Amino acid sequence: MTSGTAPDVLRAPLVVEFPFTRSLGPVQSAFLSGLRLRTVLGVRTSDRRVLVPPVEYDPVTAAELRELVEVGATGTVTTWAWNPTPRPQQPLATPFAWVLVRLDGADTALLHALDAPGPEHVRTGMRVRIRWAERREGAITDIACFEPCAADEPPAAATAVAHDGRFDSPVTGIVATARLDYTHTPGRAQTRYLRAAAEQRITGERCPKCRKVYVPPRGACPTCGVATDEQVEVGPAGTVTTFCIVNIKSQHLKVLDIEVPYVYAHIALDGADLALHGRIGGIPYDQVRMGLRVEPVWTEGGRYPDHYRPTGEPDADYDTYRELV
Ligand SMILES: [Zn+2]
Repeated sequence: MTSGTAPDVLRAPLVVEFPFTRSLGPVQSAFLSGLRLRTVLGVRTSDRRVLVPPVEYDPVTAAELRELVEVGATGTVTTWAWNPTPRPQQPLATPFAWVLVRLDGADTALLHALDAPGPEHVRTGMRVRIRWAERREGAITDIACFEPCAADEPPAAATAVAHDGRFDSPVTGIVATARLDYTHTPGRAQTRYLRAAAEQRITGERCPKCRKVYVPPRGACPTCGVATDEQVEVGPAGTVTTFCIVNIKSQHLKVLDIEVPYVYAHIALDGADLALHGRIGGIPYDQVRMGLRVEPVWTEGGRYPDHYRPTGEPDADYDTYRELV
């Protein structure tokens, strides 16, 4: 934690994850299909080098590459880095070395993990062999990892012999999961806002210069560029400044299991100079209107109002909220 971070600022893990589906060309398809059968394929370039992992186009001439060759399952470490704290979904759960391995018969190196008891057991130039995964399905993870082997162990299997690249039921596509896994902090201003909301109070912060009250607060006035640190409790009631009728059901049913149509509105809470968003309930959707007076409805343990419902007061005059529409 840096010295500028207040110790009472909220923090929470945040994961953004989505699957990325890609199709494979003939070369990548042959490479992954081969792994399933413990066969490692490279591709020969116009200058007769063998690239592993293979690429579809020559990095020098840009010509299409199709000449596949099989290389060995043993190789030489060309460089490495120790990983003392493996993260979820990395090849090994225990500390390991990331290694670049030039397989026998190849001219380039493949990035993978080396299972070794400690960094003192790893060195550039050491001989290693592939440890195959027990279940192989046509993915780079079919190579579980590399493991050290004796310096005089002869190269296993073939080294750079021609291969037609044909396999039964070849792999034609892969799903690669993109994942960002980090700790999110909302900052000091929103931490104060969230703490108050946990007590069912809505607070904003006032700009010392223009006197506007921002809800939710961002910690600074976007107009004056100065820090806002005067806490101001706003609401609880407010005025609908504008709204829309939602007719499409959310795909995130667990989060928003709400019958359509419903109304989502901009609501200017009393004392706030910025409207926030909220769902309007307790009134038929086609009777919601600009100027409608509403109040928040909290659920047990909720950190924000579940929705806003009419207070029964007369509608607000347009001039009282026209600057907030
Ligand atoms: Zn200001």
